[in-house]
Amino acid sequence: RTQQGGSFIEQIIRDDLQSGRVSKVVTRFPPEPNGYLHIGHAKSICLNFGLAEQFGGDCNLRFDDTNPAKEETEYVESIKRDVSWLGFRWAHLRFASDYFESFHRWALELIEAGRAYVDDQGPEEIRASRGTLTEPGRESPWRNRSVEENRDLFRRMGEGEFDEGSRVLRARIDMAHPNINMRDPVLYRILKKSHHRTGDRWCLYPMYDFAHGYEDAIEGVTHSICTLEFADHRPLYDWFLENVSVPSRPRQYEFARLNLTYTVMSKRKLLQLVTEKIVSGWDDPRMPTISGLRRRGYTPSAIRRFCADIGVSKANSLVDIEFLQFCIREELNRDADRVMAVLDPLKVVIENYPEGQIEELEALNNPEAAEATYRKIPFGREIFIERDDFMENPPKKFFRLSPGSEVRLKHAYLVTCTDVIRDGSGRVVELRCRYDPESRGGEAPDGRKVKGTLHWVEASHALAAEVRLYDRLFTLRDMDSMEEGKDYRDYLNADSLRVVSALVEPSLGQAGPGERFQFLRHGYFIVDDDSRPEALVLNRTVSLKESWSK
Ligand code: ATP
Ligand code: MG
Ligand code: MG
Repeated sequence: RTQQGGSFIEQIIRDDLQSGRVSKVVTRFPPEPNGYLHIGHAKSICLNFGLAEQFGGDCNLRFDDTNPAKEETEYVESIKRDVSWLGFRWAHLRFASDYFESFHRWALELIEAGRAYVDDQGPEEIRASRGTLTEPGRESPWRNRSVEENRDLFRRMGEGEFDEGSRVLRARIDMAHPNINMRDPVLYRILKKSHHRTGDRWCLYPMYDFAHGYEDAIEGVTHSICTLEFADHRPLYDWFLENVSVPSRPRQYEFARLNLTYTVMSKRKLLQLVTEKIVSGWDDPRMPTISGLRRRGYTPSAIRRFCADIGVSKANSLVDIEFLQFCIREELNRDADRVMAVLDPLKVVIENYPEGQIEELEALNNPEAAEATYRKIPFGREIFIERDDFMENPPKKFFRLSPGSEVRLKHAYLVTCTDVIRDGSGRVVELRCRYDPESRGGEAPDGRKVKGTLHWVEASHALAAEVRLYDRLFTLRDMDSMEEGKDYRDYLNADSLRVVSALVEPSLGQAGPGERFQFLRHGYFIVDDDSRPEALVLNRTVSLKESWSK
């Protein structure tokens, strides 16, 4: 899916630089601080910061904090952390709320020019009079107020004289415009709320469409890139810029937002998952948030590679979550050290191995690494293997352990199962084996073929670990195709988290939060932030299975 010669936006920028319309590229990433960033935002971050980097320009991180009702400093901090973690540096850190005076001045300019008016209709009336695609809207009875009256009312709105919802400031454009966004949109509403940065200075707050282009103009943004839903708002974006004296003239371009299979990405829904405690927090490893992906074990480079490879287009589509998993799996296959961990332990006693003896075996850390490094792992008479690596009555082609069969213990010896021990209820609780002392390293001197290789841990040195196995949070592939009357919470996957008590090799005792490993045959894991040396916790990032092919 990588595009030859770059995206359509790159082409536009090249043309603008060549024609001289633009001399230095300035972009911005403009999140509203009303939630944590998700993988969709990562696409926008990679695009905006990536273009600035590519063309030697600047990209600002700008908080679009024009709605005091939902915005919080906690979100501001998390967004800064996530953008930095992804590996990007902003040229300037900006807040739309720093521009409130300018917005206000421009609103007055529109009033003076007869291009804005105070409307006394309530929100319901305004909505009802907007018209439809086929029918023009109805003009407000307050549309033809004098400039003087508008100036006076707008001032009094700003002084807190009127109630929320009782009056708004609207642009005076055209109630019969074929584009409904152009039918006298609201510029300002009364909100008697404290703002996370401006406090109680304002009780008038600007609307997104009115403010956004001005924010861009103040910052000298040349290419204001947003998602496709805003294509219909572009004429309005242009109208606002053309009808007041702004310091620069930005242009808006639209690209398709990222949608992922089995994933919801709206911040409103993600917030609900958090507040209703369906997940453990914004950074729950099942969340599509940047902080969730980080805790899940994703790397910045895997996310950036994903964003680069899915490309930038003008058509909405649904990207397979398996492709995101492929990106991290490929990277970890190259970078992660291999270790042994048993997730569902079954004890094995090697009867002919000397009691009390422990020997140290050499284990290669990563066969993919350019330089081979080794670690020591203990081996002894008692070990644990994976319960489902043993079958009492195996089908044909079962190459793991069963009564009388021989398998290879990774890095160790060949062993043959001689006996099965059960508890009172008939459950297998232990296996008895014999090992071939001549097979150290895993090959017999007589060259006999042994197909199965099992991972294991030595019983007296193994460390207990809590291992969290994740599955997708939702069961529906396209979460935009929910059945009528259903809620996204009706599609929650009841098995999205499974916690198991595992036994892991002792080398993991040295591992700290954030370290990544491959557990042989189980996948890639990261040491969780909750992990302590005496109480290890690991999260599975992704399994080993290749379910996506390029
Ligand atoms: P949501 O609908 O999830 O609340 P939003 O668009 O309201 O997202 P913003 O904080 O306004 O959230 O987003 C900041 C930037 O990220 C915007 O420019 C927006 O276009 C972009 N963005 C948001 N979601 C996606 C997505 N799924 N794919 C690509 N870009 C996105
Ligand atoms: Mg938005
Ligand atoms: Mg939103």
